[in-house]
Amino acid sequence: MTRITVSFLGTTASIPTKYRNHAAIYLTYQSENEHCFLWDCGEGTQRQIFLAGLNFMRLDHIFITHWHADHFAGLFGLLETMSLEKRKKPLYLYGPEASKFFEVLAELGYSSKGFAVNPIDVPFDSKEKTILLEDEEYQIVSVPVNHGIPAVAYAFIEKDRVKIDKKKAASLGLPKKGPIYKKLKRNGEIIYKGKKILLKDVSFIERGKKVVYSGDTRPCASLVSIAKDADLLIHECTYFDNDFDERNHSSIEDIVKIAKETKAKQIVLTHISRRYQSIKELQKIVEKVAGDELKGKIKIAKDFMTLKIE
Ligand SMILES: [Zn+2]
Ligand SMILES: [Zn+2]
Repeated sequence: MTRITVSFLGTTASIPTKYRNHAAIYLTYQSENEHCFLWDCGEGTQRQIFLAGLNFMRLDHIFITHWHADHFAGLFGLLETMSLEKRKKPLYLYGPEASKFFEVLAELGYSSKGFAVNPIDVPFDSKEKTILLEDEEYQIVSVPVNHGIPAVAYAFIEKDRVKIDKKKAASLGLPKKGPIYKKLKRNGEIIYKGKKILLKDVSFIERGKKVVYSGDTRPCASLVSIAKDADLLIHECTYFDNDFDERNHSSIEDIVKIAKETKAKQIVLTHISRRYQSIKELQKIVEKVAGDELKGKIKIAKDFMTLKIE
């Protein structure tokens, strides 16, 4: 069994409040090994990581959605602390125009780092998704979004897994477990006690899990396409009423449309404007706008909220 754990470290828009810090999401993927990622790194993220009981030294890949300060201002301090803690491993820093912005950060102040930071420029001007990181079990991909400046969304996509159907295996006389299963998965067939066993006859496909994070954006077709059937869509929802002039963000009415288009199993709203203080009031608005069709599907993020997808 594999598991994705999503920890919300900051859920405010632009200005922090007593209860909401600037944007950051810590995502952990557990299979045989554990892989940790950070999506955005607003001011104060390193302290939020401590308070959440997580470990920033386990982060090798940090993804910034865009270079508005509420999404990256925590990077400088986090990298300093990693250096003070004697990090040696290289760190990969992804974002649209990451090289340009990291160059500025690297020049700031009197400090020298004991580890390499490798900026990776994430494409932001095509409609296509880009695979940024891939191993046997998962991919992390980006798609451009619409925020008035170069900005992207990220998705963690677990690959589909071939699982052994124990009943079928037993009915063909195979043992409960053992190294033959590794061989069977690798070769697609084995000879067992003189009998040819095909993988397809004793297995099924378990669909991989998918978590998508919009970053800041107005409603956007590329985001909708990458978020189709997601297990979890984390979408910014800056506004819960129609009393706003600028259109580089999304509102609850936009989210309801996106929820219907993507059919995501669960949607968590983050990047909440500080004009809204009461989470109960917000939940009431969500229920009213979402209606029965989406009942219980849309939640509002809180700092230190943790979700597990298994
Ligand atoms: Zn923002
Ligand atoms: Zn922004």
